[in-house]
Amino acid sequence: SQRVVIVGAGIVGANLADELVSRGWTNITVVEQGPLNMPGGSTSHAPGLVFQTNSSKTMTQLAQYTVQKLLSLEKDGQSCFNQVGGLEVATTPERMQELKRKQGWAFSWGIETRLVSPEECVQMYPLLNKEKVLGGLHIASDGLALAARAVQLLIERTKKAGVQYIDLTPVTAIEKENGHVTGVTTPQGSIPADIVVCCAGFWGVEVGAMAGLSVALLPLAHQYAKTAPIDALKRRKNPANGATLPILRHQDQDLYYREHGDRYGIGYYGHRPMPVNAGSLGLTPKNVTEKNMPSRQEFTPQDFDPAWKESQDLLPVMKDVTIDDGFNGIFSFTPDGGPLVGESPTLDGFFVAEAVWVTHSAGVARAVAQQLSGERSEIDMSECDISRFDEVQLAPEYVKETGQQNFVEVYDIIHPLAPKQSPRNLRVTPFYQRQQELGAYFLESRAWERPHWYEANEALVKDLPLEWQPVDRDEWSSRYYSPIAAVEAWKTRTGVALYDMTPLRRLEVSGPGAIDILQRVCTSDICKEVGTVTYTLLLNEFGYIRSDAIVARLDETTFQVGVFSPDSLPYLTIEARRLSERSPARWSQVRDVTGGTCSLGVWGPLSRDVISQISSEDFSDKAFGHHRVKRAFLSGIPVTAIRLSHVGELGWELYTTADNGQRLWDALWKAGQEHGIIAAGRAALNALRLEAGNLDWGTDMTSEHTPIEADLGHLVTRGKQGFVGQSALEKHASRSISKRIRTIVVDDAQSVILGKEPVFYQGRPVGYVTSAAFGYTIGKPIAYSYLPFRIEECDAVEVEYFGKRITATVGPTSLLGGQVRRKSP
Ligand code: FAD
Repeated sequence: SQRVVIVGAGIVGANLADELVSRGWTNITVVEQGPLNMPGGSTSHAPGLVFQTNSSKTMTQLAQYTVQKLLSLEKDGQSCFNQVGGLEVATTPERMQELKRKQGWAFSWGIETRLVSPEECVQMYPLLNKEKVLGGLHIASDGLALAARAVQLLIERTKKAGVQYIDLTPVTAIEKENGHVTGVTTPQGSIPADIVVCCAGFWGVEVGAMAGLSVALLPLAHQYAKTAPIDALKRRKNPANGATLPILRHQDQDLYYREHGDRYGIGYYGHRPMPVNAGSLGLTPKNVTEKNMPSRQEFTPQDFDPAWKESQDLLPVMKDVTIDDGFNGIFSFTPDGGPLVGESPTLDGFFVAEAVWVTHSAGVARAVAQQLSGERSEIDMSECDISRFDEVQLAPEYVKETGQQNFVEVYDIIHPLAPKQSPRNLRVTPFYQRQQELGAYFLESRAWERPHWYEANEALVKDLPLEWQPVDRDEWSSRYYSPIAAVEAWKTRTGVALYDMTPLRRLEVSGPGAIDILQRVCTSDICKEVGTVTYTLLLNEFGYIRSDAIVARLDETTFQVGVFSPDSLPYLTIEARRLSERSPARWSQVRDVTGGTCSLGVWGPLSRDVISQISSEDFSDKAFGHHRVKRAFLSGIPVTAIRLSHVGELGWELYTTADNGQRLWDALWKAGQEHGIIAAGRAALNALRLEAGNLDWGTDMTSEHTPIEADLGHLVTRGKQGFVGQSALEKHASRSISKRIRTIVVDDAQSVILGKEPVFYQGRPVGYVTSAAFGYTIGKPIAYSYLPFRIEECDAVEVEYFGKRITATVGPTSLLGGQVRRKSP
């Protein structure tokens, strides 16, 4: 078997060794800079609370697997998970609402939870101050991971299976040759390897740098304190350091609690962020002790003062005791709070599994082992992908600021559309100035500023025909929303609107081998005449969706490829490199041209009138059909025009280089005046594309879905051979499918839903909302959801929104009338 070196024997590294052993790997070495019995990383002092439910399905599933695994890891009749349950209490009405939303996620992702009254909270947690608590969410399957013990058991078990552990040995360099990892360097010499996996915890930046990889994590100190013994806990007769009460969260004050025998452990996120440079911590001592380890810094009691007062109020039994021991413990935060997992895009064989909580550790380790073993991960790992950040997001300043922000917000109630406060204005498109002049309301995504609507259109709200009037919204769904979106939708369906589509990733794939690569990765036949545009899918080798893409053949050897998943650039780059290694004459180049170009969607029934006015090119149906691309001049500005719209209307996407962008905007704006052109934002776009049956990558289609389940089977060219995922697809075809994407329409035409809410059929949870919007054209809220195959069009379902069941009906794929299939954009 291939030689694997794992750097780090914390909860992630030890689990990974175990997951690999269970898959038959035989040549594994784990290198750890600290002593094996207590390596001194974050795991060595982790209190181990595992709250599984998360707004992210991926994170919840990673936690579910971790719980299962730790429960099964036993010695002397004791497992490594103390399933005491979890109780999250609310002390404000907002938090109570949030717990209802959280219960919705739990239904969606398949975790059993119960909303409980203040009385029940006190029944299950008698030490609580009943006066303070408005209610809670109880999760019976949550509990405490015995993380340090789990590491020792995993080491013991994997050693028996032949895994070699080398402790007190830092990895000081990553060895490589011809773009492939070949081993690691230590003070004792080299250890050759075909695969190196960095599980170095908050030292990930340093180890990543050895491999030339930016690992976007920030080590931060987080306060944890233990009280002196408490009589009320003594009476509970807990095992030494053990617990019998549920783990407790008081998120309104950034606090969590567990018992350590007769003491309380208190974790606090309310203090100022305290970033740490792991590189400056020095060598791990030979004798790591509980009080002397690199991941433990001096306690700063003044930062803990508010936590202590609040804790004594919530749990009055603390009033008579003192804090016995506190520390500022270090672990990793990332720009979006997710872990960093996967293979380096620039060094083959170098993998990372970083910024992972104990809660998700075994799940992440399994996913990495699956990737290395060529197995499919049943959990969609794209939101954990090491390649998900754009270059600007890898800047140390960006990681530092966003990492700290995530620390501050870790327990906050976050609205799905809440604008990022800072950093902002990192990437703006060439239209930015014009957008500001029109009063754009911007939201940030991947460091891009993207208009959601334009205040300039407010003046048109009074002109909205009755049937287009937006409905009144509840308080939550009216946050970060404006009825102006209704105007922008209306004008797009009845007139013409300009959409800034610049931030969508564009690659240029060129060279004699370009067609070979695209034929290999796309499900559709790309070998079509110059001037053709193909909406297609990229699959993984298991026949599940990796991304969707819009491939425009600009000339024989040049393609513009709009891609939706962030790992498409490294994926295609690696494919191109491999192909040219095999056949040098078929070389090709993959370039990200997003920032150097810009894109405007000109959509609506009057779009042709506007464009034709400033171009001598023929934009008629006959000369410029659907899914065609042409180069043209618009008011003397060179553009690449693609006939497509994401909203189910007549329209074109116009691309030009960034230097020409503002002039293109101005030319269209001027020509559009007599047609009533407006600028429109993403709020309208999202509603319109849902009505048109267009799916968003990352929510409506992920690696959990096959093309058939996503109702995108028509994007697989019949008879096409040799593309990635083809043989797996054939196998899928022989099996009956159990779920498929469905459009749901809310019956009362009023209750807006936002996404991730559970969907019930005959009283049982059967799916969740992948995305949703108010459909202005049809005058009803709509949503997509993967539902069991047996559920048919016109069947009644319910969507739960903050604990309230909303009745809805399964609708046709496209809501724009007729028997329109799910259309490509
Ligand atoms: P680590 O445990 O840090 O292991 C990494 C290992 O790599 C270390 O042993 C290190 O010595 C080794 N290493 C690093 N560099 C090198 C090198 N160059 N060569 C060789 N070896 C190297 N998570 C939860 O889920 N629930 C909680 O309740 C919880 N509470 C926490 C409370 C505190 C106070 C802190 C600080 C963290 C808490 N966490 C919690 C987070 C959790 O502890 C960590 O996310 C987790 O332990 C990380 O595991 P790991 O294996 O990635 O890293």
